[in-house]
Amino acid sequence: MSFFDKIKSLFTKDKKDAAPAPAPAPAPKKGENIIEIKGITKVFDGVTVLDNLSLGIKRGQFVTLLGPSGCGKTTLLRLIAGFETPTEGEIFIEGVPITSIPPYKRPVNTVFQKYALFPHLNVFKNVAFGLKLKKVKDATAKGGERKYTKEEIESKVSRALKLVGLEDYGHRDVNSLSGGQQQRVAIARAIVCEPKVLLLDEPLGALDLKMRKEMQIELKKMHEDLGITFIFVTHDQEEALTMSDVVVVLNDGMIQQIDRPKKIYDEPKNAFVADFIGESNILSGVMEKDYVISFLGRSLPCVDKGFERNEKVDVVIRPEDIKISAGAVGGHFDGKVLTTVFKGTYYEMIVLAADYEFTVQSQTEFRPGTEVSLEIVPDSIHIMKKILTINKHLGSVTGENAVTFCGGEFDIPTAGFEVGDEVIVYVPFDAVELLDDESDGVIGASVTQSLYKGTYYQVQVYTDTDEDFYIDTSDEWDMDDRVGVKIDTAKVRLEKYDPDADAEDKE
Ligand code: ATP
Repeated sequence: MSFFDKIKSLFTKDKKDAAPAPAPAPAPKKGENIIEIKGITKVFDGVTVLDNLSLGIKRGQFVTLLGPSGCGKTTLLRLIAGFETPTEGEIFIEGVPITSIPPYKRPVNTVFQKYALFPHLNVFKNVAFGLKLKKVKDATAKGGERKYTKEEIESKVSRALKLVGLEDYGHRDVNSLSGGQQQRVAIARAIVCEPKVLLLDEPLGALDLKMRKEMQIELKKMHEDLGITFIFVTHDQEEALTMSDVVVVLNDGMIQQIDRPKKIYDEPKNAFVADFIGESNILSGVMEKDYVISFLGRSLPCVDKGFERNEKVDVVIRPEDIKISAGAVGGHFDGKVLTTVFKGTYYEMIVLAADYEFTVQSQTEFRPGTEVSLEIVPDSIHIMKKILTINKHLGSVTGENAVTFCGGEFDIPTAGFEVGDEVIVYVPFDAVELLDDESDGVIGASVTQSLYKGTYYQVQVYTDTDEDFYIDTSDEWDMDDRVGVKIDTAKVRLEKYDPDADAEDKE
């Protein structure tokens, strides 16, 4: 019997030692949400880690939470598991609000990256731990429920260990097991209580590449066989795309896109998703009119419509969608190959054309120095709204031509405003300058993201007062660089802050 068949059988047979069957619950409807996350905000030490996040997870799906380190994936999982409490919002499992239900009473179980096995307990006792806490309904027992008997626990644990291929390991010290074996113990421990939802927090992160690939296949098959809901956390986009029914892309505590893997890859909703999922050429463009996009000084046909005339947009072109041919023969872009790298099944080339370094993938090799022509068919030009087009911060007028925001005081014309007025400060991306020496700026910050947009970098920094700033710059900055933020205040616009209008916006 295979590893998966064994696991499946845990859920489907050998129920003779189980507690007397409780009254059957109404049959769950196919396609209904087993989990509803409604307006969840989580703040740690004044920092918002999840921001008004809502999400429905359908019964039986393999859902992956994907995003860069620190985006809030684990926090969301821990909220579902009950190890954290939301600052705002509510989570429902099968329609029941769960905030006040302790972790061990929730119909979920968690597999952690670091296994989180109890080092002082052997393998058997590790797996038995959850069962000992669990109560089962029994109409004949006092209060209608009872604990599992010793025999029931022994039987269930033995069976679970057998299912993960560790039947002879019950007596073993968990510290004497390999990483893969420890993760199998963790899985046995998580499924022995028959959860409705299995939460997996980077469960393969500590395994070597070969073991990781094997466990990916095993987990996927296990999900298919068991039919329960899996919520899987990873920052590995390939893992997310190959394993999931649905991928939820997170950044900065906010959902960027929820879709099937292919759609996430083919139709990223914004430049962040395009950049995070796979290789991309990301450029800034202007939607001249329906079906006509302009970027890098060319107007090209596209399949998109419905944008404002001349609206600034992000343009994403996948490297494999660019047709490359020899000779500067008047294609959409003519240029020269700078580098060529063989990637196993294709060549990846950097081509300099229209002052932009295109990444192009092709089965055909073009050597560095070769003159080439690039063609991009309309269907391969993905156009997306810019996430933000201006920085918007709350500030207050502190004097004549003095406005304080983001922890700094700036010299901004305040005609029409009074001292004490709360104002919205609009700062265009090109009005911000980043300085190497943070003491030269008005605000101190750290670089959190840098996206190359064809002719400039769009850099995101996180200020010491916990606010984000976006900057368009020709300079490349590295993640975590400390910088000083200086602002060209002539480009800044003020607007009176209206809390009522702000509340309506949020609704
Ligand atoms: P990774 O992939 O690195 O695990 P993640 O997306 O899972 O990242 P989280 O672990 O959810 O991110 O953390 C999100 C942010 O919340 C981080 O900045 C982290 O430092 C912070 N954070 C998480 N837990 C706590 C805590 N208990 N107290 C304070 N800050 C926390």
